[in-house]
Amino acid sequence: MTDHYKVALQILYQLLKEDGQDHWANWIAQDIHLWEHDKSVEHHLRAYGGMGSFNDLPPLNGNATESIWKTQIFGNLQNIAYTLATGGSVQNIIENWDNLLKNNQISSWRCRNCTEAKITQRDIELYIAPKIIADKMLYFIRENRLHEALDILQLIDTPQVQQQRTSLQQLLNNHHIYLNADGNWHCPQCGSAEVCVYRWIIDENNQQINEADDNLPML
Ligand SMILES: [Zn+2]
Repeated sequence: MTDHYKVALQILYQLLKEDGQDHWANWIAQDIHLWEHDKSVEHHLRAYGGMGSFNDLPPLNGNATESIWKTQIFGNLQNIAYTLATGGSVQNIIENWDNLLKNNQISSWRCRNCTEAKITQRDIELYIAPKIIADKMLYFIRENRLHEALDILQLIDTPQVQQQRTSLQQLLNNHHIYLNADGNWHCPQCGSAEVCVYRWIIDENNQQINEADDNLPML
């Protein structure tokens, strides 16, 4: 039986150490020590809550894609540690993550004045990475191989993942949502400053796209 709490803490420690975040690395090292000796989670739970706390860290270092993937894996490991420390079960984690797997909303940038919409590479990555990572991590949890979680980073450049980016971008292009280097504060089309974050619903097979119903209205 894998001690998922301890394994999650060990990988969190490794990521924090690699990221140069010594304060939190030391904190987690202490958590591991207290767990091994007293089965105590109290110190770990004190890390959460409020600004500058353990669940309010900046994204982890790396190139743009790597940073998104690492930060997502980190967040999922935090979720494992927190859920188990608060008396939840592995089953609870599996159920919670269903939402990550089923998420079908992608964020883009949109001009409310002329309806021009643009997507960034980051938007695409923030859509596909959480799904792939949750799927793989759930597999590792079920197989008692959570200690291999960082191997997920090796998937970033695989043809399968590249294919997901390409097919998603193709779908967006078909819907006249084109790739843009960054989100603009002014519309490059009409110059309006009435730009907003705009969400779209994508179907499971990357075949259809529709406007989400909680967006700001176009002008
Ligand atoms: Zn515009």
